[in-house]
Amino acid sequence: MTKSLNIIVCGAGISGLGAAIALKRKGHQVSVIEAASQLQESGAGIQVPPNSLRILKSWGLETKFIAKVMCPKSVAIRRYATGEVIGRTEMNPVLQDKYGFPYWFIHRADYQNILYDAAIEAGIQILLGTPIESVDEKEPTVILASGKELKADLIVGADGVRSRTRASVLKEEVEALESSQCAYSATVPVNLMNSDPNLAHLMTDVNANLWLGPDGHIMGYPIRNGEVYNLVLVSPGKASVGKWNDRADVEEMRSRHAEWEPTVQRLLSHVTTCLKWKLAYVPPLERWASKNGRVVIIGDAAHAMLPLLSQGAAVSIEDGTALAECLDRVTDLVDLSPVLRAFQDLRKSRCETISKAALSLVDLWHLHDGPEQEGRDLKMKQDMTNTVGVTSDSKSSLDMMRDKFVPWMFGYDTVRQANMFLDSHLTRKGIGEGFVSRAIEQGGFLSLGQ
Ligand SMILES: Cc1cc2nc3c(=O)[nH]c(=O)nc-3n(C[C@H](O)[C@H](O)[C@H](O)COP(=O)(O)OP(=O)(O)OC[C@H]3O[C@@H](n4cnc5c(N)ncnc54)[C@H](O)[C@@H]3O)c2cc1C
Repeated sequence: MTKSLNIIVCGAGISGLGAAIALKRKGHQVSVIEAASQLQESGAGIQVPPNSLRILKSWGLETKFIAKVMCPKSVAIRRYATGEVIGRTEMNPVLQDKYGFPYWFIHRADYQNILYDAAIEAGIQILLGTPIESVDEKEPTVILASGKELKADLIVGADGVRSRTRASVLKEEVEALESSQCAYSATVPVNLMNSDPNLAHLMTDVNANLWLGPDGHIMGYPIRNGEVYNLVLVSPGKASVGKWNDRADVEEMRSRHAEWEPTVQRLLSHVTTCLKWKLAYVPPLERWASKNGRVVIIGDAAHAMLPLLSQGAAVSIEDGTALAECLDRVTDLVDLSPVLRAFQDLRKSRCETISKAALSLVDLWHLHDGPEQEGRDLKMKQDMTNTVGVTSDSKSSLDMMRDKFVPWMFGYDTVRQANMFLDSHLTRKGIGEGFVSRAIEQGGFLSLGQ
């Protein structure tokens, strides 16, 4: 019999709310503690790839999402100076046919709101305006900024890139590593887009555009049911990590793209305000679960990554789902430690591989004009179905990315993979109290580090 646990989730971002829903669906008592007094509207578009859509659909949320998402046909990869298309990634309906689920664009706040409503509807208690000061893994206890202490069987740290929970798992502070890059985010309302004959088609084509230039790239696509055109512009610079609300200088943003093609100039001429933050990533951590198995970190707290593969939110949804499957094997509190170790080993390698791949794309996408850039563009042109980019050195890397990496990323079935992993690493499944601990004692819990 699975043990119903009393679980506190720290953070009501996409990973915290997703985990809360997945855990509640398995019969656990779940509360979510969030510092912000209301869900924040700030942020830009987020992409919902098939690997997370598979999960959201299984939670019955498809209809709620469909009212808010855009369903792009493709991403056109363009040369910054001319707008010439140098590559194209087919999205819908190609990905639906290939992986069984489409690919969506949504505003981050809409995504979070849908999850929040679903969590409330499921009976999850969400305490807004309740910042956490620290987490003590011994009891385990969440210590709030107010001084109040909350105890639980398990604490899930989903408190983002500047996580407080991370320190209680690792027994030391590990800060996210700052990349050299900043992201500006801006939107252009549909009325301004439609009033400009050179831009109006960007709202109706429902394609994304990815401009690659020296030291930077720009991703643009419509969101909010076509109400606004969303722009994220990545270039070197200074800003704060995880401070999504910081206003940026619009002129500074425009001047960085002064050499970019006329469509970019027209888009930026309609921007009146923009935000800016530093792109950062959490390096591979020693562990995600405390040694006693009472605290675990997920989402950006565990593996914040650069957004070039648009997988940060998707793998965060996978985390919560995989955690719920793992906890299904717990019949006694003593099982928590080995089960969370299994969770960590199941998830860490996948998330770290995707994070590393996203980091490696920066150099490729931001090449200066010259032979390397020409070689990259030629390869992209040769393979217009290439999904996320190529490495500039060999055909086999391109083939590997297209044929293996992308299908592995998009085709991932979290529930199935989690259960296959648990089955293959346990001698006995879910029978009797403390079965995992006994399996370890009997030598049945094999090395999980793969
Ligand atoms: C306001 C905001 C805007 C964002 N905008 C973008 C964007 O435009 N594009 C993009 O790619 N990604 C954006 N992100 C990040 C993106 O949402 C995440 O990478 C991804 O969804 C994984 O989310 P997460 O839940 O792990 O972390 P986050 O989304 O960072 O959520 C963490 C949550 O924990 C809460 N929290 C943090 N510290 C504490 C504490 N001490 N006590 C209690 N609660 C705490 C935060 O308030 C937040 O709600 C944004 C995040 C936020 C919070």
